[in-house]
Amino acid sequence: MQLKTKQQGLLEFLTVGMLAHGRQDTLDQLGDRSQYIGMSDIGKALECLRSAVADKSGIIENIQPQAISGLSHEKIKQVLIKQITLQRGHWQEYGIQKAITSTRAHCIPQLEISMDYRGVPLKAHLDFTIVRDRPHPAVRILELKSNEHIPDNLYASYEAQIYGQTGLLHHCWNRPCFSVPPTGHFEGIVNATFPEVAQSMFDIQLPDNPEEADIQAWVLSISMSDIKPFGPYTHDPSMLQTCFDKAEQLWNEKTKLLSGAISLNDIDHCFGFHPLCDFCSVNAGCPKFQSQFLAIDPDCDAALKELADLKSQESTIQKKKKELEQRVKNTYRAIQGDNTGWLNTSGYRFKVATMPGRKSFDRDVLHEKLTEHICDEISVDDVLGGCQKTSQPYERLYVSQVNR
Ligand code: SF4
Repeated sequence: MQLKTKQQGLLEFLTVGMLAHGRQDTLDQLGDRSQYIGMSDIGKALECLRSAVADKSGIIENIQPQAISGLSHEKIKQVLIKQITLQRGHWQEYGIQKAITSTRAHCIPQLEISMDYRGVPLKAHLDFTIVRDRPHPAVRILELKSNEHIPDNLYASYEAQIYGQTGLLHHCWNRPCFSVPPTGHFEGIVNATFPEVAQSMFDIQLPDNPEEADIQAWVLSISMSDIKPFGPYTHDPSMLQTCFDKAEQLWNEKTKLLSGAISLNDIDHCFGFHPLCDFCSVNAGCPKFQSQFLAIDPDCDAALKELADLKSQESTIQKKKKELEQRVKNTYRAIQGDNTGWLNTSGYRFKVATMPGRKSFDRDVLHEKLTEHICDEISVDDVLGGCQKTSQPYERLYVSQVNR
């Protein structure tokens, strides 16, 4: 009991720190996010407008560090795990920045581009922007995404974000829209053109026209043990216009919501089994989860079909894996006979080892043996029943096809 209290104390301590640090870090790097539309807001709005408007309007109360001590152990862990997921990207960003700096590349960390589109304040924060003037003027935007698992294809929201960043860089190139935050001895830059930033930071001459520079953007998806670049993305005027339109829609819906002209449930939401719904702060009460919405939603059918296809592929893979394993074992035995050493190929080594079998109680034998000592069948059943353990209930998904 005392151990549990000490563990809880440590987790509480860390959670309070993570919440306070997360809030300050966001404020330092991104400023007051309620006052502008960022590229990640646009990416989110393209996935689900209702969720993006709720986030942007500040109607969701974030948990305060001082409220942590009143929470249960489980709830504290939930908050801490969420913070780790949200903040691990910044830790990775720090390491990647050190790696880029050590190559002596001319890298601008956290370049901010800000502009106004039809009265909507827009801002893009670029993780890393690398510039060079030789052999020809070139700019590389690098956006870091921390993922639990590296995706096969880039999420639509990430693509929108990177297109928005590339588009704004191109669109604002020769306008005083660029700022770089101060760090260490560097005083920072405010409201400069992009060529002025390159000139001031690295003494690099970039052309006045972005068309004369080779501009590419990449998204680097990074997990704790894997990494994958997606790109290159280049300036696409139609994607930039899509970002502008979505930003305007998001801003207008947010204004209407805050003025009371509309309610949250009047705003469009995404369909299907969307991964965003798992983490969405306003999923309670979302109209999507009224069953009649699912019944008419073709995206849900598509997702269930995909799940069925994946299960079928999984079983094919399992069978293939078993066959191949058996073939390797047969070859090993044919070569080694009773020997047990390793066999080498050019890239691998392998051996077949005999492992001890799993131990388990034979209930009938146990019953028989206990009866020899206890001499009372009912007491034996009681003893066995008393030793039975029920594991935690778990969820099971049942899906079956509707035959019409
Ligand atoms: S629960 Fe899903 S559909 Fe509803 S607002 Fe959140 S993300 Fe959108």
